[in-house]
Amino acid sequence: MEERRLQVTSRLGLHARAAANLVRVASRFQSNLTLQRLDGNGEEADAKSILSILTLAASRGTVLRVVASGVDEQEALEAVVGLFSRDFDEIEKSGADLPPVTQEFRCKGLGVSDGVVIGRVLRLQEGTRDVYRAVIEEADLERERRRFRAAVRFSRRQLEAIKDRAEKELGRGHAYIFDAHLLFLEDAKLTRDVEDYIVKERANAEWAAKVVGDRLLSIYTQINDEYLRERGSDIEDVIQRLLANLTGEGPKYPNLSEDAVIVSPDLLPSTIAELNLNHVKAIATDAGGWTSHMAIIARGLGLTAVVGLRNFYQRTRTGDRIIVDARRGEVVLHPAQETLDQYQLMEETRGPTPAPAGPVDCGPVATLDSVQISLRANVELPTEFQAVRDFGACGVGLFRSEFLLSRPGLMSSEQEQYETYKSLALAAGEYGAVVRLFDVGGEFGPDVKERERNPALGLRAVRFNLRHKEIMRTQVRAILRAAAAGRLSLVVPMVADVADIRSAKRVIDEELQRLAEEQASFSEVQIGAMIEVPSAVLTAERIASEVDFFELGTNDLVQYTLAVDRGNDKVSDWFRTLHPAVLYGIRRTLQAAQAASIPVILCGEMASTPAYAVLLVGLGASDLSMIPAMIPRVRAVLSQINADDAREVALKCLSLATADDVEELVRNEFRARWPELFPPNTLPKALE
Ligand code: PEP
Ligand code: MG
Repeated sequence: MEERRLQVTSRLGLHARAAANLVRVASRFQSNLTLQRLDGNGEEADAKSILSILTLAASRGTVLRVVASGVDEQEALEAVVGLFSRDFDEIEKSGADLPPVTQEFRCKGLGVSDGVVIGRVLRLQEGTRDVYRAVIEEADLERERRRFRAAVRFSRRQLEAIKDRAEKELGRGHAYIFDAHLLFLEDAKLTRDVEDYIVKERANAEWAAKVVGDRLLSIYTQINDEYLRERGSDIEDVIQRLLANLTGEGPKYPNLSEDAVIVSPDLLPSTIAELNLNHVKAIATDAGGWTSHMAIIARGLGLTAVVGLRNFYQRTRTGDRIIVDARRGEVVLHPAQETLDQYQLMEETRGPTPAPAGPVDCGPVATLDSVQISLRANVELPTEFQAVRDFGACGVGLFRSEFLLSRPGLMSSEQEQYETYKSLALAAGEYGAVVRLFDVGGEFGPDVKERERNPALGLRAVRFNLRHKEIMRTQVRAILRAAAAGRLSLVVPMVADVADIRSAKRVIDEELQRLAEEQASFSEVQIGAMIEVPSAVLTAERIASEVDFFELGTNDLVQYTLAVDRGNDKVSDWFRTLHPAVLYGIRRTLQAAQAASIPVILCGEMASTPAYAVLLVGLGASDLSMIPAMIPRVRAVLSQINADDAREVALKCLSLATADDVEELVRNEFRARWPELFPPNTLPKALE
């Protein structure tokens, strides 16, 4: 008889696929092979029977005694030891076609948030987890139930810790979601059903949690009540957490090391908001583009990010050393020592822009020929409110309020929203802040279970609000109440038709009326329309007569004018901000607003790019809203140009036929007119 103690080290434990490989190896030998758990009741399994192995429910970390007895016992044991050490010869599904590399490997993407970072990979894939089914012996059912209860207790402790952290780092607006998770976790409907299922079906706890979770989810997705139905994604979240703790896979965001670089196929903006930002240094994703919301929030939070890396995720392992170089739009996996040496020198001089130490210039900037330009801040999270003052912004030109919804589909209460808008108004000061009604749908699916075929063209923004009026009313009331404490206005996203704005105004009027009847403290606000869809550009004069101001969203304007998905790296070559049709749309909107004597705030990413900001001024813009950290740079550039020169260049651009022509003209004109302001890397790149 030969025996050995072995530990299960593979990520998913000894689950079905791994067990099948073990059976295959064990069956090659004549000897008997058994596995015995060294914890609990010392259960035993036959290594040649998959069902028997699965009853062990051996998750990662489990120590097993492997015993071989028979004529070829030594070889059999050696073969099993080898298999354990190779983690059961499992190749992760997603990594099957691209094996991880260990030599220096460079991958080109798109740098969307500045900085150069050296760190360690933390792989994050949302919503995937393998669950296996095991038959539990009658005598072990109580042990299985105890295992489940322990996972519930552990999950609760995790959630409480996450909630505390979220409260400190992201504000209460983000923390409340974890209260909901805690309630779900303790709900008898979940815990009792899982325990009943374990006993009735003699199922392992993972399987029972998955089945009960799926049933609950399917019930929730059918519910007619919008609010209740939206809870589905939270149930899913809680179940995922429970499963992670049962399988020993650990929480979704394991203890982040100080230098974690999140590597993911794609990342929900809400996931970024949940991360421990003190530890995460950078993000690298396969999908995404410059204007995807994930990129925008990364810039807002000063997290270095490179996106559009295609199949990079598959090549990585958690813990791999990585360099994320957003300047070059590239990542380096397993950097060689000389590469590291080069980068270590650079890291000290580069990184996300810190707030200036001393006093900063604030208020509008004047061009050399005395044209006044307001520079405002685009803000997504309460953690950025301080940046408004730090970078000298004229208030907040765009508050993307949907970032308050820390998970798609989970709305926050009127009171919670009120508190946030009130602190926004206080942070924005005399210039005030523009709150955008939730721009959900699109990337912020209202219900992740029901993904739309074509979200950007679906029930997004104002359409979502008009379809879900209770959600809209709650937000409108919170804004109107908070407006009593400071200067706030409200903008309606993705208006495509005068009727959209009329319908939205009707709801706002009704809420004003109700607040007056309730004798609540509130204030009327100015109402604006986001112009970001070609139909709105073409009917801008008519929309202008219905609103107090316009906001021009160039990110979506490019997307919809050119029919290029802003988050799809495959078509990023077609996302041409300087396409003549886009410039024409901007000019047309500015002229319509001028004719109606209403202001226009330009708030797309164009305004954050100094060269493009100059062009916008040339097209007639006098109010730009941007990433707070970019304000000092845009201010410096605009204070050193003549608006008249900018106008000349812009007019020439408007007469050209293609985006290539415009970019070439911009390169040549800017170099000739302002050589010291625009070194080559600040101008649109020539095509290779
Ligand atoms: C835009 O579309 O340009 C805009 C400012 O809004 P968002 O990027 O949030 O869609
Ligand atoms: Mg938009």
